[in-house]
Amino acid sequence: MKVRVLGCSGAIAKDCRTTSFLVGERILIDAGTGVGDLTLEEMGKIDHVFLTHSHLDHIAALPLMLDAISSVRRTPVQIHALSATIAALAAHVFNNVIWPDFSAIPSQAAPFLTYHPFAVGDRLTADGIDIEVLPARHTVPAVGFAAMGKSGWWVFSGDTERNPAFWERINAMPVSYLIIETAFSNRERDLAKRSLHLSPDTLAKELAHIARTSRYPIYITHTKPSETNMIMGEIQGIVEVNREANVATHDIHWLVAGQVLDV
Ligand SMILES: [Zn+2]
Ligand SMILES: [Zn+2]
Repeated sequence: MKVRVLGCSGAIAKDCRTTSFLVGERILIDAGTGVGDLTLEEMGKIDHVFLTHSHLDHIAALPLMLDAISSVRRTPVQIHALSATIAALAAHVFNNVIWPDFSAIPSQAAPFLTYHPFAVGDRLTADGIDIEVLPARHTVPAVGFAAMGKSGWWVFSGDTERNPAFWERINAMPVSYLIIETAFSNRERDLAKRSLHLSPDTLAKELAHIARTSRYPIYITHTKPSETNMIMGEIQGIVEVNREANVATHDIHWLVAGQVLDV
């Protein structure tokens, strides 16, 4: 299973696109501005969109993508999300004011999109790939996802603050990659706490939950472009302190748009 990183930035700027991953050819996880890097043909193949939550940086490209591929699709694109996320999309985006209600056009019988609610803990199969819905803690109802590849689970935290239930679950899974957010630097830790995101200090406390026998590559996502260097410097500092204290360190990288993970 290939996971292509389309966007992994906490905001937009030149070469910075917001959260979106293409899993295989037919599954999109989140639909941030990174979707704009797909060709029309690539977008036309997407049958399933899994959304972590309703925030704009994770759904911004969804209405535009559906519009772009409406003439080439023969079947609806399936939108999988929490009921609260679906309700937010229907009320605030596909509401015939911001954008047409694509769940009712061109006809109720054959719309451009269909909504498919899920719950935390659900195990779904899309395009032959197993996907589990993981818990997240954020300012709106939110989830993370795990997708099963041949070498283990590709795990994505979604937007989250400290989240014991997440670690309890993934410690019981064979994980091959972990993508976890760190939206703010320690300087902005108060803002991180208020907006229910992680900063390097809270990330370090989270990583301490990982079972001692379990080590896998960790990729940091959702950094603000203006703070990325500071965030990654602070995370590097944590790794060094652990190394000096002989605490088992993690292999931590910064996730880059365009990167393809072979899972
Ligand atoms: Zn968010
Ligand atoms: Zn976000």
